[in-house]
Amino acid sequence: MIYLFIFVLGLLIGSFLNVVIIRLPQLQSVVFPSSHCVKCKTPLKWWHNIPLLSWLFLRGRCHYCKEPISIQYPLVELLSGIIFVSVYYKMGISIYSAATAAVFILLLALSVIDLKYKAVPDSLNLLALTISFFTREDILSALHDALVMMGAFSLLRFYVSYYVSKKEEMYLKRELKKAPWLRAYYPKYIMIEAMGEGDIIVAGALGALLGIKLTLVAIFLAALTALPASILQKALKSDKELPFIPFLALGGYLSFMFGEQILKLAGIE
Ligand SMILES: [Zn+2]
Repeated sequence: MIYLFIFVLGLLIGSFLNVVIIRLPQLQSVVFPSSHCVKCKTPLKWWHNIPLLSWLFLRGRCHYCKEPISIQYPLVELLSGIIFVSVYYKMGISIYSAATAAVFILLLALSVIDLKYKAVPDSLNLLALTISFFTREDILSALHDALVMMGAFSLLRFYVSYYVSKKEEMYLKRELKKAPWLRAYYPKYIMIEAMGEGDIIVAGALGALLGIKLTLVAIFLAALTALPASILQKALKSDKELPFIPFLALGGYLSFMFGEQILKLAGIE
């Protein structure tokens, strides 16, 4: 019974999260106006707004204009419900579990926004990082682990950026040897920034939430899941950049749930 209550609470939070995901990047208020269809703008009745169920009984279409409603709505609601139930299962009810659920919910919102816009608002990102300091009793050690992970990610970013920039520079030098008259069209200095700044903040939040060891597991899982996605994207010849925050968030969640078992299986713990 308590699980059902927690799940429904997660669904309701997920419903609000959809509003944040849609309106925040467009700089709209998350409170006004009340819910309306994004296509025909007709205000919705309360029974069009029941998490999960409304989407199902409307068969994924707006009641008024019959335009399809994005699968994002029920999916975010369902995932929020799952996050709430799994955090309760792992940690019970306390301020620490509430903070943990809040961080995962924010990571979900950041993932969807990153998928849609390839960039994330700092307001959500910094909120997730700040709340993550309060996911355990010892705030100082949470802060410590966050700073270590952010430092490690920043350092990695320097190395990768240097490598990618050098590679591009060498490629251009070879091209210029073949066709020196192209010199005017090429940039003089090459500075490519690898990885987003948003990734560093998310890594910090995971550090505070999971501790360093489990965050390393999370990053490993993130890389493991991002690899087939990037191969697939190359195969589809898409030149779009792959957002990394969704993979970090997924890795973080999996490490939160199963990280200790994974370490045991690997013989590390
Ligand atoms: Zn409509």
